[in-house]
Amino acid sequence: MNGTMMHQPLTTGSLIGHAARYHGGTEIVSVETAGGIERTTWAGVDANARKLASALDRLGVSPGARCGTIAWNNRRHLEIYFGVGAGGRVTHTINPRLAPDQLIYIVNHAEDEVMFFDRTFLPAAAQLCQHFKTVKHCVLMGPRDEEAVGMIEGLLFYDELIETGDPDYQWPELDERSAAALCYTSGTTGNPKGVLYSHRSLVMHTLGANQPDGTCISAMDALLPVVPMFHVNAWGVPYVAAMAGARLVMPGPKLDGESLVKLLNNEKVTVAFGVPTIWMGLLAALRSSGEKLPHLVRSFVGGTALPPSMIDAFREEFEVELIHAWGMTETAPVATLNKLLYKHRELPLEERRRLRHAQGRPLFGVELRVVDEQGTRLPDDGESQGNLQIRGHWIVESYFGKSESALTPDGWFDTGDVATLDPDGFMVIRDRAKDIIKSGGEWISTVDLENIAIAHPGISNAAAIAAYHPKWDERPVLICVRAEGANIDEAELLASYEGKVAKWQVPDRVIFADTLPIGATGKVQKNKLREEYGQVLIEDGH
Ligand code: ADP
Repeated sequence: MNGTMMHQPLTTGSLIGHAARYHGGTEIVSVETAGGIERTTWAGVDANARKLASALDRLGVSPGARCGTIAWNNRRHLEIYFGVGAGGRVTHTINPRLAPDQLIYIVNHAEDEVMFFDRTFLPAAAQLCQHFKTVKHCVLMGPRDEEAVGMIEGLLFYDELIETGDPDYQWPELDERSAAALCYTSGTTGNPKGVLYSHRSLVMHTLGANQPDGTCISAMDALLPVVPMFHVNAWGVPYVAAMAGARLVMPGPKLDGESLVKLLNNEKVTVAFGVPTIWMGLLAALRSSGEKLPHLVRSFVGGTALPPSMIDAFREEFEVELIHAWGMTETAPVATLNKLLYKHRELPLEERRRLRHAQGRPLFGVELRVVDEQGTRLPDDGESQGNLQIRGHWIVESYFGKSESALTPDGWFDTGDVATLDPDGFMVIRDRAKDIIKSGGEWISTVDLENIAIAHPGISNAAAIAAYHPKWDERPVLICVRAEGANIDEAELLASYEGKVAKWQVPDRVIFADTLPIGATGKVQKNKLREEYGQVLIEDGH
């Protein structure tokens, strides 16, 4: 039919183009790997991204080539995001804390042609690069460094590479369905799987996530993505920041509570993003120093369940709103965010607050359903608990390099999470299917048990796991870290479960540990805890 609208491909180049043209003077702050703060602008990032793309052309890096990054959140990494993707190649962000075997597997599976890395990772890169079968160029993300020259043959330096580039380089015309970024799942069981994001899916995700009932970022905000750029594109924050023209503060390597408080306050950050462990560290640092957060308005928290007690603490002590969000590598990642509805205005405060505990409701662009073991749809009644499935504009269809679909026969992606949905779409993650405790045929949510423990002032962190039990198959065991100076014991902690969960859901055992094993994306590694404590009830003679 004639007479329709113009078609422009949805590409990441359009995002950085908008930021450079209309927010060119807006500052990008970057804590550098060597310490110290660098300041640039969206115009500066755009110019360097173009220079990088032209320098990669000159090096002969092929169109569509995967370019790996092993790096912190900093401005060079940001330039690589846009320069590689908008230049028609694929930014492959790599989690630096992977075991060497997994890292080598991922680089070879992705067939990375270029490897960018921060100075911190030079020794690792020097050791591993001989195993990278397809990498033709290793690039140290910094100025020339004589010490590094001898460590990797043919090593290039990012700043020198950029100098040879063309700031007026024109982005190639790309199909919006072509790939811009690649991220692997963590692979706690089996090998990691690659999720390849198309330009279109990234732009749709940016548009969808930044609605008023989404992240609601404007050009008047300063954003701090504490979530790493290798953890699902820092939840899309670099792209949202470019579209909104927001000021961006990149935290570099130091993510401890004290460093973050300093950065939040010195740089007047208004919105931050990170997993609950980050905010736990921040809370501890704030309480011990007595500092406040005068500029921070809200934080988006996800990756693991956000304990309600933490929402309360930030609201009451620091007037900061923590907003619960949910997603995964396969969902780009943001799929739900917790914002209330018009009808909730009239609810009593306590009820409104309780609603905020849920993982939220779907953004425009995604749909959710829960199904039983046979795949039959369960009602959205807020009670029926089942496998959470999703479909939408930024949801994986098949994994990178795999010909078979990752979807159910009727086109939904099974998340591996167990959840409930209410009629308004509010979703509560009860657990991961592989973590939930199956006690004598009944399910116990580890999230519920952990939230109760973490709410106790004597506890700083807690994880519930299934321990093998001869009669019930599995029973809950809680592994806890005491808060500084606390001497709470098992009986006192278990007493706090009274009236909050059914008696048979109360943990059989509490084990106090100095720390919990936390992975690179800030999540408790429950598989490690199961290995260590999975047999503890047998040893106890239960
Ligand atoms: P992984 O944790 O396996 O490395 P992802 O980062 O993709 O990989 O994590 C996705 C998973 O994280 C989800 O399937 C879910 O189990 C968990 N998750 C994410 N956000 C939340 C949340 N707000 N509450 C509870 N669990 C969450």
